Amino acid sequence: MRAVFLDRDGTIIVDPPDERVDKAEKIKLFPDSIEALKKLATLDYGVILVTNQAGISEGRINEDEFWNLHAIVLEKLTPSGVKIHKSYMCACPHGHDNCDCRKPKPAMLLQASKEFNIDLGNSWMIGDRQSDIMAGVNAGTKTILVKTANVPVESKEATYTAPNLLDAVQYIATH
Ligand SMILES: [Mg+2]
Repeated sequence: MRAVFLDRDGTIIVDPPDERVDKAEKIKLFPDSIEALKKLATLDYGVILVTNQAGISEGRINEDEFWNLHAIVLEKLTPSGVKIHKSYMCACPHGHDNCDCRKPKPAMLLQASKEFNIDLGNSWMIGDRQSDIMAGVNAGTKTILVKTANVPVESKEATYTAPNLLDAVQYIATH
């Protein structure tokens, strides 16, 4: 299948100022996330979530707490009707060389492509950081940078740059 790989924090939900989603109160969707995912649900793509969670290696939350918080995120997305095939999480700390999952490395995307037989060249990676774009590039997908980080970044490597997730999904719908 073709897939849309989605980053979570800063892309679907607002990245908290400290960039750590470690409490349920810190989970807040962007205003257009439901509409964007509703639109995505109508397209012929599998949906895979790929998230770096350095807060786990920092000891802020453990893996169980992460998955409990993640379940709250997924529950908030249910009104969109989107089916998220699977969520992949990398707990490696920032700057840790001894780790192959942390974006910009492509391991989470490659593992998903094996599990779901994903045609990476016809798939997309959407995220708010250059590391998301490079994870897509390194996996061989097309990429969209969304300018919804707390401090929005630019990416020369991105196939397309979108102001928000809804615009990103609309771009995919027409390309
Ligand atoms: Mg992000």
